Amino acid sequence: MTQHYAELLAAISFAAAKHSKQRRKDVDASPYINHPLQLAHVLATEGDVSDVATLMAAVLHDTIEDTLTTYEELVENFGKTVADVVMEVTDDKTLLKAQRKEHQVDHAPHLSERAVLVKLADKTCNLRDVANSPPAGWPIERKQEYFDWAKRVVDRLPSVSTRMRAVFDAAFALRP
Ligand code: NDP
Ligand code: ZN
Repeated sequence: MTQHYAELLAAISFAAAKHSKQRRKDVDASPYINHPLQLAHVLATEGDVSDVATLMAAVLHDTIEDTLTTYEELVENFGKTVADVVMEVTDDKTLLKAQRKEHQVDHAPHLSERAVLVKLADKTCNLRDVANSPPAGWPIERKQEYFDWAKRVVDRLPSVSTRMRAVFDAAFALRP
């Protein structure tokens, strides 16, 4: 268990350094790292998830997509299991934004158990953010579209945790 704390803290420290120059899209431009930390917090406290690889993948889930971090770097620092989960939830940036969104829907049924948990936490946290600290300038229609797309993705995920699914459903109930 002690080793698990050390590994999880290493992932937090790594993600904090990688996201240090980034901000969320809310009016206060919150530090980006709040978001990956929130995922891990939701999984541990609301989802009852104690698997350290899942919590580490949650903390690292946006490093490849949104920073210069490579898959190889994650393998080297945190091992292949964690790196593979992060890879599973990383959008292909060679696709256009609309294509990426459709790809998430298409790809959802094929995710591993750990990736499903990270995806559920990510969508839950983003719905809460859109409801409570939305990206600056989003009209209600865009917020509603975001909620509906997130639900389309989540509805196609394999059922691995009724608990995390219920947490997502509660967030969806915040739809404007
Ligand atoms: P998104 O619409 O996907 O922006 C939301 C993403 O930003 C989230 O998934 C989250 O991703 C991240 N994020 C950062 N800060 C916040 C926050 N405070 N609250 C919620 N999410 C946050 O991306 P784009 O803005 O790039 O737009 C892409 C799509 O939006 C296009 O496909 C286009 O079709 C559509 N669009 C719709 C418009 C409309 O008015 N209806 C207008 C323009 C575009 P993460 O978890 O990775 O951080
Ligand atoms: Zn995210």
